[in-house]
Amino acid sequence: IFSGPISFLKSAPQLQFLPEPTVPEIAFAGRSNVGKSSLINALTGRNGLARTSNTPGRTQELNFFDIGDPLIFRICDMPGYGFAKAPPKVVQKWRYLINDYLRGRQVLKRTFVLIDSRHGIKNTDEDVLEMLDKAAVSYRIVMTKADKVKTAALEATKAKVLAEAKKHPAAHPDLIVTSSEKKQGIDELRMAVLDAVQI
Ligand code: GDP
Repeated sequence: IFSGPISFLKSAPQLQFLPEPTVPEIAFAGRSNVGKSSLINALTGRNGLARTSNTPGRTQELNFFDIGDPLIFRICDMPGYGFAKAPPKVVQKWRYLINDYLRGRQVLKRTFVLIDSRHGIKNTDEDVLEMLDKAAVSYRIVMTKADKVKTAALEATKAKVLAEAKKHPAAHPDLIVTSSEKKQGIDELRMAVLDAVQI
C-alpha cells in the first residue's frame, strides 16, 4: 500500500472544507517540531509530502493525504500545537477546529499522538489526550526522534509515558518508538496504521 500512489489532497482551515467522509481516516497529532512531517514522510516513503509545520499558512489547517488509487484510506495531518509564542486567539481557534473534527468524524479510526523522546508528555500533550478521551477517539502514542536520546533515558521516558497512557481510557496500552532519521519503528507504525483502518 505504501509503495502505491499517495498524494496530497487538500488543506481544510475550517470544518466545511473537510473531504467527503467516504473512506477510513487516521490522524497524526503532536507539538510543533515533534517530527510529525518527517514521520509522515518516512511512513509514506515520500520526502516532501508533508511539509514542516513552520510552512507559513499551513499551521492552522488539517492537511489530508490520499492513500491508494483507487482510494483506500486518508491520513489527516493535524496542525502542530504547543507553540510558546502562539497568541491565545490562535490557540482557541486550534482547539475549536480539532475538537469539532474529533467529535464529528465518524470515519476517523485512530489518532497517532507523537511525543518527543527527549521531552515525554508535556501539559499541552495532556490537553490533547483529554480531548481525545472525551471525543472517544482511540489513539496510540508514538515516540519520535528516538535516535536523539541514550537507551537508558529512552527506557525511563517510555516507562513514564506508558504509565500516563494507562490513565487514559481511549489510549492504546502500548506505544511505538520511532526515528525518522534512522528509519526505526517505521514498519511497526505502518502495521499499526493498516491495523487501524482494518486492511
Ligand atoms: P513537525 O514540526 O512536527 O512537522 O517536525 P519536523 O518533521 O519538521 O521536524 C522538526 C525537526 O526535527 C527538523 O529539524 C527535523 O529534521 C528533526 N527531526 C525530525 N525527525 C527526526 C528524527 O527522527 N531524528 C532526528 N535526529 N531529528 C529529527
